[in-house]
Amino acid sequence: RPASLTLLGAGAMGTALGRAWLAAGRAVTVWNRTPARAAALASEGAAVAATAAEAVAANRLVIACLLDDDSVGEALGDADLTGRDLVNLTTGTPAQGRARAAWATARGARFLDAGIMAVPPMIGTPESGAYVFYSGSRPLFEEHRDTLAVPAGTRYAGEDPGFAALYDVALLSAMSGLFAGITHAFALIGGEDVAPEDLAPLLASWLTAMTTAVHETAERLSSGDYTTGVVSNLAMQAAGNGTLLRTAGEQGVSAELLLPYMDLMARRVAAGHGDEDGAGLVGLLRLPRAAA
Ligand code: NDP
Repeated sequence: RPASLTLLGAGAMGTALGRAWLAAGRAVTVWNRTPARAAALASEGAAVAATAAEAVAANRLVIACLLDDDSVGEALGDADLTGRDLVNLTTGTPAQGRARAAWATARGARFLDAGIMAVPPMIGTPESGAYVFYSGSRPLFEEHRDTLAVPAGTRYAGEDPGFAALYDVALLSAMSGLFAGITHAFALIGGEDVAPEDLAPLLASWLTAMTTAVHETAERLSSGDYTTGVVSNLAMQAAGNGTLLRTAGEQGVSAELLLPYMDLMARRVAAGHGDEDGAGLVGLLRLPRAAA
């Protein structure tokens, strides 16, 4: 008898997940706040529950993939979680993951928080590289690993239920900076006789080459040595920023996506650290921790 599970949420991501489990022969009970949205999964063989509480009662393994953390609290408000294995595939913050873990545990469930590193079309296609970070109950993860591995790869990020969100958001935040740079680069060529398709391969290979900075930064942060063997020091880069800003001005492009990072570099140089590389900027961003 194939493992069965409950899926809360038949949005774009929930539907993709449900499809993958159904295709793998798993019995799926689905609930969605707006019932019509569960119709696609129903037509592919899922049982539809009328309420979230009823869906939770149907299976030990309960997967939630809702809009945000608040919707998880709302949906599960009157469900009996005793003896349930709740896996929260809803994107949230580390503090939300930790609070949701305490909330679920107090209600008698084991809990795993998760962060999905994929978009819906990548789900259920192992070759896409899609994977999900999980953190929280290791016994839950081990027990349901085969089922969790059906829609996407699995990466266990530790017992701290905040870690899945921490890794997820770290990766997404880095992507945000990357996309900001791509946006600016295309804006620069906007008024010129340069086809975007001509810049694209150059940009892609340049960004790929620059990813070595990720490992260099990690090594420097671990060693605490920000100066030995620096090839492009901050003082030189900060001077070069002037050229980047002038070019933006010449091309009629707003430098608003570049300025925050450049300001940080200028502050570090002004503080006497012009001989370092970028690893020294990490500490400048650390503020006193906000209360959870
Ligand atoms: P959708 O907007 O397509 O679906 C949102 C789901 O949440 C729907 O099932 C919706 O129900 C439900 N919902 C919203 N508010 C409530 C509430 N108060 N109570 C109960 N249910 C509620 O989003 P996705 O499916 O794309 O995303 C789901 C999660 O997956 C999000 O946390 C998202 O960050 C994450 N994710 C999505 C990715 C993507 O590319 N789509 C990528 C990685 C993660 P209803 O139909 O009734 O509105």
